[in-house]
Amino acid sequence: MSDDTNLFSLSGEIALVTGATRGIGAEIAGQFRAAGADVIGTATTEQGAAEIAERLGGGDSGKVLDVASDESVQALMKDLAGRLPTILVNNAGIVRDNLLLRMKPDDWQDVLNTNLNSAYRLCKGCLRGMLKARRGRIINLSSVVGAAGAAGQANYAAAKAGLLGFTRALALEVAGRGITVNAIAPGYIETDMTAGVTSERKDAIVTQIPAGRAGSPLDVAGAAVYLASPAASYVTGTVLHVNGGMWMG
Ligand code: NAP
Repeated sequence: MSDDTNLFSLSGEIALVTGATRGIGAEIAGQFRAAGADVIGTATTEQGAAEIAERLGGGDSGKVLDVASDESVQALMKDLAGRLPTILVNNAGIVRDNLLLRMKPDDWQDVLNTNLNSAYRLCKGCLRGMLKARRGRIINLSSVVGAAGAAGQANYAAAKAGLLGFTRALALEVAGRGITVNAIAPGYIETDMTAGVTSERKDAIVTQIPAGRAGSPLDVAGAAVYLASPAASYVTGTVLHVNGGMWMG
C-alpha cells in the first residue's frame, strides 16, 4: 500500500451530471453522492430539478438545463460560478430512430445537437474552472452503437462515434493539466430509452450478450465512479465498454 488515499472516494469534488432525472444519469448522480461528491444533476424541467434535489439530499443539487441550447448552458455556468465542477458527466441523450431514407432532417439535427454538440458546449463551459484548479474529470456517455453501428440509428451512431473522437482529441489537449477525458460505451441497458423495445426484440438482443442479461444503470454508474475517482488518475482518452461482452472492439 502506498498511502491511505481512498482510491474510490470523490470527497471534495463537485460533479455536474447532465440528464440526472432517470436512468443512467440518475444512478451516476446517486453513486457520486454516495462516494462523497457534491453533485449537481440536471433536468429539462423545474419539477425534474426539484426531484433530483430531493433525491440527492436537498440543497441546490437540481438544475434545469437544455443541453441542446447554447443559452441554457451559458446560464447554468453563470449560476454555478462559485461552485465550478471538477467532474463533468455528459450523459443527457435522446434517440430518434429511423432508417436513413425515412429520417427527417430534424431527427438528424436534434440527435447530433443533443448528443454531440452538447459535449462541446458543456466541456467549454467547465474547462476554464478545471484548468484553473489543475484537476478535472470529463466522462462522455457514448454507446456500443458508436463503435459497432446499428441499422435505424445512423444519427445516434454518428453522434456517439463523434463523441469518441472528441474524447481522444480533448484528452490530448488537457492531459498535461491534470484533467482526464474518457468515454463510457454502454451496451443494452434497461432504462426509459430502451423501454419501447418489444419483449421479443429484447430476448433476441439478450441472446447476443455473453453475460446473458441486459445491463442496469448501476453497471454503468460503477464505471463512471471509477473514471471519476483517484483510481483512474492515469487513465485518459479511453473508451470503457460496459456491455456484458456483446462487443469487444
Ligand atoms: P433516458 O432514461 O432516456 O434518460 C435521458 C436523460 O437525458 C433524462 O434525464 C433527460 O431529462 C435527459 N435529456 C434528454 N434531452 C435533454 C436535453 N435536451 N437537455 C438536457 N437533458 C436532456 O436515457 P438513458 O438510457 O439513461 O441514457 C443515458 C445516456 O446513456 C444517453 O447519452 C444514452 O445515449 C446513453 N446510452 C444508453 C444506453 C441504453 O441502453 N439505455 C446504451 C448506450 C448509451 P428529462 O427527464 O428531463 O427529459
